Amino acid sequence: MGDESEVRAAAGRSADVVDLDGAAVIPGLYDAHIHTANYARGLSEVDLRGVPSLEAALARISGHASRLEPGAWLSGGRWNSNTWDRPVQPDRRALDSVCPDRPVALASVDGHTTWANSLALRVMGIDRDTPDPVGGEIVKDADGEPTGILRESAAYPLRDLVASGDLTDLLRTAQEELLALGLTSVHDIDGEDCRAAYLELHRAGELKLRVHKAIPRDHLEAAIAEGRRTGQGDDWFRTGPVKLFSDGALGSYTCHMSEPFAGAPGNAGIAVTPYPDLVRLIGTASAAGIAVATHAIGDQANHLVLNAYEAAGGRAGLRHRIEHAQHLRPADIARMAGLGVVASMQPVHCTSDLDLVSSLLGERDLASYAWRALLDAGVALAFGSDAPVEHPNPFAALHAAVTRTRPDGRPPGGWQPGQRLTFGEALRAHTFGSAYAAGEERRKGVLAEGMLADFIALDTDPFAEAPDALLRTEVLTTVVGGEIRWARS
Ligand SMILES: [Zn+2]
Repeated sequence: MGDESEVRAAAGRSADVVDLDGAAVIPGLYDAHIHTANYARGLSEVDLRGVPSLEAALARISGHASRLEPGAWLSGGRWNSNTWDRPVQPDRRALDSVCPDRPVALASVDGHTTWANSLALRVMGIDRDTPDPVGGEIVKDADGEPTGILRESAAYPLRDLVASGDLTDLLRTAQEELLALGLTSVHDIDGEDCRAAYLELHRAGELKLRVHKAIPRDHLEAAIAEGRRTGQGDDWFRTGPVKLFSDGALGSYTCHMSEPFAGAPGNAGIAVTPYPDLVRLIGTASAAGIAVATHAIGDQANHLVLNAYEAAGGRAGLRHRIEHAQHLRPADIARMAGLGVVASMQPVHCTSDLDLVSSLLGERDLASYAWRALLDAGVALAFGSDAPVEHPNPFAALHAAVTRTRPDGRPPGGWQPGQRLTFGEALRAHTFGSAYAAGEERRKGVLAEGMLADFIALDTDPFAEAPDALLRTEVLTTVVGGEIRWARS
């Protein structure tokens, strides 16, 4: 660190000189919440983001099906019927009309609703007599027949049924995409298969991206039995927190609110994990040295998670966190600060969801995507993408954090602009903040002596340009551990 003469003096004759021709250099970006296995698989699945109608979705599905092996599952999705020209809930019959002869299961953009065809329901053993599972719903029509819509845990059996390519190969490809976006570290939220694949890449010396790997709730007991603890590992691969769910998502009407959604009397969302279980799981994990990251979107979910963190008591320096923390009771912000709970948030969720927030949550006293209020109250903010729910490009997140507008400039001046951050604050949340959430702030997140040499060079200087320049910013070089791991050719 320092000017050229200082660096030359410190490095001595053996140093390589890389002239970046005046490019801006910032710390490597750190995604605090990303599903890299799903993202990697998604690179080969049907992608329904941005389709304008049900008909357009079916056309894309039919085109994708024609490229698959006969009988193979068709998966992917990211559909959002709220944005179609006729915002109807789709059903199995629509899928059957283009894809009758292979099972099809397509997750909604937030991952909390699955749209399946008749064959997929048959393979899953779901018919009119199947009861709803705990924490989920098999939607049925007026005649009692399943419509093909599965909510929350009703879709879990698909995890074992839908196969895709070798995950190690897929992640080897995906890490190149992430490095090209300027990401040098990730908190991965996917499963144990993803952990195994990363460890295989690490053993082979092929891991170029640093990974903090969450533990799925279903694997908590096994992880404890094998002595796993948060922070264990080396600078390339560490064990992260256990991931719990307290509710669902807004677009699926499953986030847990203190009052029903506008226009949906009696529906205030779903508590995915009953409160006593939440307290017990947090206590069990903490006692074993495992931090807890709990998904909470609705205000009631966030309130209960804070209660549970408080009730579970002693946690010996572990950094518990709330994933998303989207809609908070204003009084819970100070509690979150007091409890030292990290807010792991995804700025693009705000700009993607804002129409939905206005229509479903209306005029309530809520702090929504309240980055400014959280920061001012002293809550540690860690930013990420939640890819593949959103694109993993961290510059899109920084733009959303600084402007609270969509890339098309809507709404002018930003949605609830009082909650905007400065570029410096947003960058800190996407670097240092994510490192802090992982207990790595002495190794990562700022450019200083003694840190791991993880940094990126950019084609624009975001500190000098207007925020809209972030939408066009491209990474020139990505350095992880002092070595160039990716460079624009
Ligand atoms: Zn997620």
